[in-house]
Amino acid sequence: MKLANRILKKYFGYDKFRPLQGEVIQSILNGNDTVVIMPTGGGKSLCYQIPALMMEGVAIVVSPLIALMKDQVEGLQANGVQAGFLNSSQSAQVQNEIIEDVHEGKIKLLYVSPEKLVSQDFYYLLLQLKVNLFAVDEAHCISVWGHDFRPEYSKMAYLKKHFPLVPVVALTATADSLTQKDIIRQLGLDAPKLFLSSFDRPNLSLKVAPGKDKFKSILGFLRQRPHQSGIIYCLSRKACEGLSEKLRNSGVNASYYHAGLSPDDRAKRQEDFINDTVPIVCATIAFGMGIDKSNVRWVIHYNLPRNIESYYQEIGRAGRDGLKADTLLFYSFSDVIVHRKFIEESALKEVSHAKLERIQQFCDAQICRRKILLSYFGEHLEEDCGNCDVCKDPPQQFDGTLIAQKALSAVFRLKEQVAAGTVIDVLRGSSRQEILSRGYNKIKTYGAGKDVPHQDWQQYMLQLLNLGYISVAYDEGNALKLTEQSKEVLFSGRKVNLVHLATMKAEAQKAPVIAKPAKQIYREDLFESLRKLRLKISRSSRIAPYLVFSDAT
Ligand code: ADP
Ligand code: MG
Repeated sequence: MKLANRILKKYFGYDKFRPLQGEVIQSILNGNDTVVIMPTGGGKSLCYQIPALMMEGVAIVVSPLIALMKDQVEGLQANGVQAGFLNSSQSAQVQNEIIEDVHEGKIKLLYVSPEKLVSQDFYYLLLQLKVNLFAVDEAHCISVWGHDFRPEYSKMAYLKKHFPLVPVVALTATADSLTQKDIIRQLGLDAPKLFLSSFDRPNLSLKVAPGKDKFKSILGFLRQRPHQSGIIYCLSRKACEGLSEKLRNSGVNASYYHAGLSPDDRAKRQEDFINDTVPIVCATIAFGMGIDKSNVRWVIHYNLPRNIESYYQEIGRAGRDGLKADTLLFYSFSDVIVHRKFIEESALKEVSHAKLERIQQFCDAQICRRKILLSYFGEHLEEDCGNCDVCKDPPQQFDGTLIAQKALSAVFRLKEQVAAGTVIDVLRGSSRQEILSRGYNKIKTYGAGKDVPHQDWQQYMLQLLNLGYISVAYDEGNALKLTEQSKEVLFSGRKVNLVHLATMKAEAQKAPVIAKPAKQIYREDLFESLRKLRLKISRSSRIAPYLVFSDAT
């Protein structure tokens, strides 16, 4: 990898690779199909640019951001990298000149739009070239589960079909398990190597606030942060315009941005933001993808984002320089209603509703927010983060180990095949027809949680989910799955702290409902069964945890 390091220094001026960059580059050089999931700002571009420069031939980079393609390529050229781009905004003559450069070996990295890539002309061009790599940037656009689906992306399987020997690298900042699977399937990748970097961004403070008196709160928030640059995400174009006007009337230098503006206008507003001429922008989700502005000091969600992936992606635009940055999400039920309406009109109701439900659960939770976010992406944070609103004002907790053991052992004994509602019914010893007919009344944990009311079990299950002790396989009828951490609870005496339900309710005086101490049957007993059954405990690995209380089947 000496050559890679030299190229890193020579063209990009950096002394060492960031985490995973070296490994990804090696994987590509070895000819593997490769999937890279790395947070925004993590340094995904170098992962394909460096191997492209190391190999003979030309690398084709597919990027959905036509508006930014020019900037990206000019940036590379300024560093002395032979790069060019092709898209529909160019005249035929310009395109021909570039194609000539490619033929003459004057271009090592050719950026193209997805439309271009799937066109017949381009296919014929590819046949004449020595292509060393296909890089698919912002690869979540390929997935209908992703938040920015592009139909052209779905035709890209032809790359692997017609050029099976050329490695494909797909890169994205947001992909839960469903999106990941979809990217791999749609591109037809061949046993891809998967690189997931940590999603933790400890420099971002996290806060969720009730969605009332929002404007007043924002003014207060801005007063404490004079001259800082930030983004306020709104659900509608109208809200962007209205809010920026109100801000300007209050003496705040803000603009707005949404897809309804002309391309020139959008480019201008983006530039003003990047140059800090207008440091604050009220925007729809159309704003931000691919924008490399390191000193965004805060992100506000004026409305509830539609799911955790979008939320994570959007707050990820703050603090890319690694310095402290703040995020604030206003949560109100009226936004949920708006989202539900959108979802009803869309094609992917079930998943979208479940994802919306999940972000509500995130907002409602009284558990370290970073823990919840990371567990959503299949990571586990051992300690509370200390940098979110929940950690700063922690709720009262109690030793919930027994409750957790009961719940998890029920999940285990039900072979990780049923949804939360059924697990709770089993715990409560329900004599519902389905429970009896499936013989669930015969398992050891049947009735072990009778003394806890149904609604309380729901809350505890949610907490276990948010803490990363269970996950939900949406594509398996919402079945609850155990995680690495739950194994420790069941078999290694790991303690679980839960939040007093009483503190979650308004009437804080009410005594918490805690299960009576049960006999220590769960551990040894389960260990034995585990050995007998040789049941594999599924890893938490990136099964998107949406908790849905009903079986989908
Ligand atoms: P991503 O596509 O993952 O959002 P980029 O590729 O745009 O991230 O990189 C984000 C920033 O990090 C860029 O300014 C880039 O130059 C910088 N960067 C990338 N790799 C390194 C490195 N090894 N050392 C220092 N800076 C890096
Ligand atoms: Mg990028």
